[in-house]
Amino acid sequence: SQDRVFNFAAGPATLPESVLKKAESELYNWRNAGMSVMEMSHRGKDFVSIIEKAESDLRSLLGISDDYAVLFLQGGATTQFAAIPLNLCSDSDEVDYIVSGSWGDKAVKEAQKYCKANVIWSGKSEKYTKIPSFDGLVQNPNAKYLHICANETIHGVEFKNYPTPENKDGILIADMSSNFCSKPVDVSKFGIIYAGAQKNVGPSGVTIVIIRKDLIGKAQGITPVMLDYQIHAENKSLYNTPPCYGIYMCGLVFEDLLNQGGLVVVEKKNVKKAKLLYNMIDGSGGFYKCPVEKSVRSLMNVPFTLEKSELEAEFIKEAAKEMMVQLKGHRSVGGMRASIYNAMPLAGVEKLVAFMKEFQAKHA
Ligand code: PMP
Repeated sequence: SQDRVFNFAAGPATLPESVLKKAESELYNWRNAGMSVMEMSHRGKDFVSIIEKAESDLRSLLGISDDYAVLFLQGGATTQFAAIPLNLCSDSDEVDYIVSGSWGDKAVKEAQKYCKANVIWSGKSEKYTKIPSFDGLVQNPNAKYLHICANETIHGVEFKNYPTPENKDGILIADMSSNFCSKPVDVSKFGIIYAGAQKNVGPSGVTIVIIRKDLIGKAQGITPVMLDYQIHAENKSLYNTPPCYGIYMCGLVFEDLLNQGGLVVVEKKNVKKAKLLYNMIDGSGGFYKCPVEKSVRSLMNVPFTLEKSELEAEFIKEAAKEMMVQLKGHRSVGGMRASIYNAMPLAGVEKLVAFMKEFQAKHA
């Protein structure tokens, strides 16, 4: 609508308009409960129906089997960086990390506090523009798990398929914070998938953990109760007060994704949007550049630079005048970044591409 901007932020990020409108219509008095979702007891039947539906819709979307628990937690994906080693290993166990960007780097540094975490590949020397070829990876056969960040939000590098874990229990773990529910995923390949909600599926404050049930119940003794998957699984994410409103919003988003036809349809839309933008960048004769290797470019986060970097501030200012905001790249890498999650409409990307063409014509 006219009073809303196109928000290219990396997260918290744009949400579907239909979901916001539905939430607005239910805000004051949720389905005749006489109160809003924010005011409900998390143990009452109304909220229990909300969290159960959110879980069952997410299970339908991703085809999650009963072998997996779905947890709605707090603390962001950052908390999972610690929770994973605490729940899966002893302090003397070894684990493998592939580091394809800043988030993978943060994850391994946190894990190193709780176990022997090794970096088996890092893209740092190539400024995080690549994903390794899986054939050349040397995995530790004794590792408890192999960890990847499926989509690096800052660098715009995305795994298009997944390495086979060659550790003794065959466990692959993925941080999917920034591409969660953007495309179908074969959950059965993973021991754990985790994601902060605030990019693709809701507001900040909710962290979703999908974990194979046999991995639950082996936490280190020092594990804080709030980080213990067993506690949350046994209590259906209601051990303590959960982020109720955020879970409700995630539920509305899951329902919307199902109504769109599920993740196969959602992926097609995402591919179309990303292609439009990358083609524009690649066809600009070097005026715009995306540093990421083509085969692993993210469908969600599109980093790009201007050949004439002195024009960046003007680019951002002019874009904002046309209601396109949050295009500045992460402070650690500079340049631009357009995050085009599920909820970014095609019209937003079309408008950005038209703007980029005009901007180039003006400054070429
Ligand atoms: N992993 C990835 C891939 C992310 O993009 C982010 C947030 N930008 C995080 C982890 C950290 O998430 P949170 O802020 O929810 O702790």
